[in-house]
Amino acid sequence: MYDVKSLKAEEFIDHQEVLDSLEYAEQNKNNEQLISALIEKAKLRKGLSHREASVLLACEIEEKNQEIYDLAEQIKKDFYGNRIVIFAPLYLSNYCVNGCVYCPYHLKNKHIARKKLTQEEIVREVTALQDMGHKRLAIESGEDPKMNPIEYILESINTIYSIKHKNGAIRRVNVNIAATTVENYRKLHEAGIGTYILFQETYHKESYEKLHPTGPKHNYAYHTGAMDRAMEGGIDDVGLGVLFGLELYKYEFAALLMHAEHLEAVHGVGPHTISVPRIKRADDIDPDVFDNGIDDDTFAKICACIRVAVPYTGMIISTRESQSVREKVLRLGVSQISGGSRTSVGGYYEPEPEGEDSAQFEVSDRRTLDEVVLWLMEKGYIPSFCTACYREGRTGDRFMSLCKSGQIQNCCHPNALMTLKEYLEDYASPRTKEVGNKLIQAELANIPRERTREIAIANLEAIEHGKRDFRF
Ligand code: SF4
Ligand code: SF4
Repeated sequence: MYDVKSLKAEEFIDHQEVLDSLEYAEQNKNNEQLISALIEKAKLRKGLSHREASVLLACEIEEKNQEIYDLAEQIKKDFYGNRIVIFAPLYLSNYCVNGCVYCPYHLKNKHIARKKLTQEEIVREVTALQDMGHKRLAIESGEDPKMNPIEYILESINTIYSIKHKNGAIRRVNVNIAATTVENYRKLHEAGIGTYILFQETYHKESYEKLHPTGPKHNYAYHTGAMDRAMEGGIDDVGLGVLFGLELYKYEFAALLMHAEHLEAVHGVGPHTISVPRIKRADDIDPDVFDNGIDDDTFAKICACIRVAVPYTGMIISTRESQSVREKVLRLGVSQISGGSRTSVGGYYEPEPEGEDSAQFEVSDRRTLDEVVLWLMEKGYIPSFCTACYREGRTGDRFMSLCKSGQIQNCCHPNALMTLKEYLEDYASPRTKEVGNKLIQAELANIPRERTREIAIANLEAIEHGKRDFRF
């Protein structure tokens, strides 16, 4: 029985409710009247239910689809302006006891190079990341209680926050590690993590169990209940995601929104972010084996429908996607991207030696961070290295009330300009610096409150004179 407030995975992601939603969407995919009404409802910026959003995803009326794209773009502009937050992944260890059939880190893969960064290696990697200009990391690790116990993760977070090299600092560490206990989530919270990210991979229980044949991750209920335990442990920014390509995308889409509704219903705050990875080639993984792959247009439609359904939730895309796909979905709703990423364990300090590949997936976008920053600016975006909310304690519902108060433009916008300025001063190439300084000058006018604008101008000047770390 479907129960959004239940703490049982099979009840808040009730299989029959997903199927009924898909059936409802299928029946109404050409129902112009209903689709128009849903678009009008979405214009109120209060989001849509999983059933309603499923109808928009299924919609086959070309003209209405265009309206959905236009609305997604408008919502993106209203809530996120032209800012794009930048981060980088940092792989700590690829030792893993699970048997996930789509990931080259699975236990039976005996030929992939297995690595685990020591604290000294983390210092080297993070120093290299700081020298690129990064301020925000997402740490990743396989699940292996002996090789990567929680103590190792906590020690690594501590190390990362402690490294202050030149003007560099990692100001927010998001964590993507396996589902764990409330007690461990509490420890992560106390270590000062930003968002706890865990991809569901697939919400379809039967497929989930087949795709995770061995290891602790096989337990669907435990994995799906992870966010509830994380929130119980005090983490109020959590990031959801599915791996598109494993199951039917319409199923995943409806269930993903049901998960978001569940978090809101039980904890009073929905997911902080949603990630939209697609399955990619890697070591012994051939994505063509999975027959639910989606093309770029479908992918764009999913991004647009997520934007419309959960306007306050950030959307993340990684370097799995090519430059052209990233460009398309940035317009439709993606608010965070990674740049200059390495998806191997180590590799920022020095490239992995030939024949020693430890990457989790092939990167499609291989540009440097400086190239990504310049590209974003040339496309009219402001690359932002802002981490202010987390550091001001604006997480969970306090973050949501900032979004809903309409003060985003007085907060995120100047923060984006000030952190971009830091990047330009400390790390940018001459061309990027030139383009960036012009952009900042032009964008100052878009800070609505005069007093805020004055403070931002003074801070920008102070940054030129060597001061760092201003925030609203
Ligand atoms: S997806 Fe995660 S849990 Fe599964 S094999 Fe890869 S690293 Fe391990
Ligand atoms: S002010 Fe908060 S919401 Fe805005 S970009 Fe910075 S961290 Fe994100």
